Amino acid sequence: MTSELVLERVRLPEAAAFPEVRGLRGPLTCLGEARFGMLAGVVGAARNCYETALRYTLDREQFGEPLAGFQLTQRKLADLVVEVNRAALGALQISRLKDAGRLHHHQVSFGKMANVRAALEVARTARTMLGGSGITLGYPVFRHMANLETVLTYEGTEEMHALSIGQAVTGIPAFR
Ligand SMILES: Cc1cc2nc3c(=O)[nH]c(=O)nc-3n(C[C@H](O)[C@H](O)[C@H](O)COP(=O)(O)OP(=O)(O)OC[C@H]3O[C@@H](n4cnc5c(N)ncnc54)[C@H](O)[C@@H]3O)c2cc1C
Repeated sequence: MTSELVLERVRLPEAAAFPEVRGLRGPLTCLGEARFGMLAGVVGAARNCYETALRYTLDREQFGEPLAGFQLTQRKLADLVVEVNRAALGALQISRLKDAGRLHHHQVSFGKMANVRAALEVARTARTMLGGSGITLGYPVFRHMANLETVLTYEGTEEMHALSIGQAVTGIPAFR
């Protein structure tokens, strides 16, 4: 649950400060790391949704054949495969930039925004493929979907990441 926390007239002793960090660099570095973790983590959720939908539609028969044999279902499976793998490739490239020490914060914004959006789309489509079972907790898809809705907001809302990307492409910080 999100709640309000108000701190008034709080004074901390020198000993409570991080020894090597001054200003906002510490918290912003921490956020950058957490957001980087998110852009990779949501790929796992998306992949689990895709694999669940694939298994379900291969097992479940309607009109004498598996749901996976219908063209509309295969279209959805193809969309899921594209989104999951595109997100994974994005995470891989961003990880390589990080390893090389060349990662910029707007690239983390790009990855977080793109991959959370992709994972949500995958979860929503996978949910439809499970029919009524898709909204139960008997399968992991709905749980991922609800969780991904929160990920859209935390570690920087989609709007904030859009502004970060907007600044990178225009040179104009619209959030100030
Ligand atoms: C499950 C969960 C866990 C969380 N965990 C943490 C945590 O561990 N640490 C932490 O610090 N925070 C955490 N948050 C808080 C989260 O980061 C905030 O909810 C988020 O920063 C948005 O702030 P707000 O809810 O006050 O939205 P508001 O400030 O009320 O904003 C509402 C909407 O307006 C948009 N908006 C605001 N300003 C602008 C603007 N200038 N231009 C365009 N759009 C704008 C926002 O992007 C948002 O979509 C968590 C949130 C959730 C849901």
